[in-house]
Amino acid sequence: MEATQEIIDRIAYLQAELTKYGMAYYVKDQPLVDDATYDALYRELEELEASYPQYQTEDSPTARVGGIILPGFEKAIHEIPLYSLSDVFTKEELFAFDQRVQKTLGYEPKYVCELKIDGLSISLTYEAGRLVRAATRGDGTVGENITENIKTVQSVPLRLPQEIDLEVRGECYMPKASFLALNQKREEEGLETFANPRNAAAGSLRQLDSKITASRNLSTFLYTLADFGPLQVTTQEEALVHLGELGFRINPEHHVCHSIEEVWSFIEDFHDKRSELPYEIDGIVVKVNEFAAQNSLGFTVKAPRWATAYKFPPEEAVTTIEDIDWTIGRTGVLTPTAVMTPVKVAGTTVARASLHNGDYIELKDIRLYDQVVIYKAGDIIPEVSHVVLDARPKDSVAYVLPTHCPACDSELVHLEEEVALRCINPKCPAQLKEGLAHFVSRQAMNIDGVGPRVIAQLFDRALVNDTADLYKLTKEQLIELDKIKEKSADNILSAIEASKQNSLERLLFGLGIRHVGAKAARLLAEEFETLERFFTVKEEDILAIHSIGQTIADSVVTYFATPEVRELANEFREVGVNTAYLGKKASDLAEVDSYFQGKTVVLTGKLTHYTREEAKAKIESLGGKVTGSVSKKTDLVVAGEDAGSKQTKAQNLGVLIWNEAQMVEELDKSQE
Ligand code: AMP
Ligand code: ZN
Repeated sequence: MEATQEIIDRIAYLQAELTKYGMAYYVKDQPLVDDATYDALYRELEELEASYPQYQTEDSPTARVGGIILPGFEKAIHEIPLYSLSDVFTKEELFAFDQRVQKTLGYEPKYVCELKIDGLSISLTYEAGRLVRAATRGDGTVGENITENIKTVQSVPLRLPQEIDLEVRGECYMPKASFLALNQKREEEGLETFANPRNAAAGSLRQLDSKITASRNLSTFLYTLADFGPLQVTTQEEALVHLGELGFRINPEHHVCHSIEEVWSFIEDFHDKRSELPYEIDGIVVKVNEFAAQNSLGFTVKAPRWATAYKFPPEEAVTTIEDIDWTIGRTGVLTPTAVMTPVKVAGTTVARASLHNGDYIELKDIRLYDQVVIYKAGDIIPEVSHVVLDARPKDSVAYVLPTHCPACDSELVHLEEEVALRCINPKCPAQLKEGLAHFVSRQAMNIDGVGPRVIAQLFDRALVNDTADLYKLTKEQLIELDKIKEKSADNILSAIEASKQNSLERLLFGLGIRHVGAKAARLLAEEFETLERFFTVKEEDILAIHSIGQTIADSVVTYFATPEVRELANEFREVGVNTAYLGKKASDLAEVDSYFQGKTVVLTGKLTHYTREEAKAKIESLGGKVTGSVSKKTDLVVAGEDAGSKQTKAQNLGVLIWNEAQMVEELDKSQE
């Protein structure tokens, strides 16, 4: 399609603005706008670029979603090799390093201490300010070209503020929170989990499909250049500042020390703070600050003489496996948990650790009464590292995996490509309980007061067999339950009653369709509007929704083809549960109850508090509509400074006119 100049300008404006917001959020950790505003502008850009693809640039923020699938990774030669670091493990070794440095230099230099981020080394090449190549370290001389994947990492600038040539180096890592969420999701899906954030980051960067990398929430800290030539810097400290100015994400926890004693206290300090950081570190890197001094120290064959890495001792403990417990999740996945003699690791007492799946037990050959070494993944989750084979009892036998479901005794299956054992009995009580817990959860039907204890009793007394039965409960039945008094029974009943008015996306999410998270549920509900429609919807209709992929589409189609689901949908209707999408109006605005709800608003004149886009996005997020011209249908005109003909027209038509301050006040009120 041919674009008007106005559209071309708008696209360029949105690209630049969203890039700026992205940098503020992902690089500086200081958002400039709220998520709703960002999302609204992002969607607008996406739509414009879809209509006018000729204006979608390679460094548009929308290019970060990935999508290019490579046949394999190309080699990437490092003309200036990536060095590794010598390491030290004790205070004595650290001080000996300082002695060697001092001997060569003839004085005690200043050192910069940096956190040793536990991720993967990466190298980013910019030409004339544009990212042209990203590579892994490999053996230091030859790595792999991972440009497409790195482009999906939000903190990596695709374009620099200056048109310079640079090769920047640093670490790509997975934050602890992303790691924990990823593993949890994988476990629920019956997939293999990652041992630690480092492996997860490596696995995510080595994906041939960059969409997968994009979904993994990787981040970066950059700390050096292959060659400082282009920059006017003489110390590592200045280099870090300069990299920050160029838009790279640098780690804020670096510190210049005036003596090796000060270095030591920095190390001790972070030894304690380490578990509180949002990412994993495995030590502290100590670098001579002055480049001139670095040059006179030079390199050994592998590593610089002017730097070393102090490695933290691993926080591990040895304990005994007393038992292995199996629990059944909502999707029928069985998860084994090691029950161990309680032991202290990294500050807390640990008595249980997930063993993830049967394959894992077999691979590590974990047996009852074995002694095992445990550690904390992501500094939080206890994990079994390995069995202490020397301590294994003589009469030990391999652990026998269950063949039948501990809850319903039906035979377990081991689906292809999955590591998990599954119970596929749709009536398995353990799965149904988990399913109900999900159904009532906050993001789903949001029914307060129905916790695991209540759910267990409802099933045990056969008061509930599926989610729709919840709506048939009576007060008499609830009062019979242990620990439920009249008042809580009333509360539960009114929460159940209120949930009948939920918009479709909550019900859809609550059904627990595999791979359909809260966000996908919303998109699906928005698109198809009624539950009924899902029984006839075709796979291609689902795939037509932007940002919904094959896995979800397959899963939705399969789910709604099941006869029991038909029955369930009928039951919902019979008990009076709403099965239609109520749109922003009902679901969002039930909570916000905004003035702007359903109003048509025109913005005119110069706004100072918000940009026009921000104001528009905010009004829209509150259920209003913002249009360009004033007519009889206009409910409100907001006139900023120097408002012209639109204001006059509004006056003539008798349309309500506000100044900017009135709008801001109303917006603030709605957002409380
Ligand atoms: P190692 O892998 O133990 O030989 O340690 C060297 C690696 O530490 C480098 O290749 C980098 O990937 C990593 N590293 C993490 N943080 C830093 C940092 N602040 N400065 C230098 N290297 C770092
Ligand atoms: Zn079962």
